[in-house]
Amino acid sequence: MDDCIFCQIINGKLPSEKVAETDLTLAFKDIHPKAPVHVLIVPKTHRRRPDELSPKELEDLFKLSREIVQRTGVVETGYRLSFNIGRDAGQLIDHAHLHLLAGRPLSLG
Ligand code: AMP
Ligand code: ZN
Repeated sequence: MDDCIFCQIINGKLPSEKVAETDLTLAFKDIHPKAPVHVLIVPKTHRRRPDELSPKELEDLFKLSREIVQRTGVVETGYRLSFNIGRDAGQLIDHAHLHLLAGRPLSLG
């Protein structure tokens, strides 16, 4: 989608700090990190919500998140994976994205 920030990152029109990628998925650093590790993991095809992803896309997304937490060394200290979905969850960007947060104690809230 032309006016989607994450689609523009995926097609290289906007810069990002890439963390990892596969054919289906891109992971890059959040521009306003809320923790020492804050990575966004997104399907390369524009999908508004996680329920719009195919099983293959979902599997690929979670496999890549596992690789990143292993590589980042936060498996023992802990991490959070979360989707904000829709208005009440505070989803600001209409392209489904999995937040990976780690590197400090993370309270719910
Ligand atoms: P959400 O509230 O779940 O929609 O979160 C959107 C996230 O995208 C926020 O944490 C923003 O800091 C992040 N963000 C917005 N624009 C960019 C960008 N150009 N590059 C990286 N992260 C971004
Ligand atoms: Zn998009």
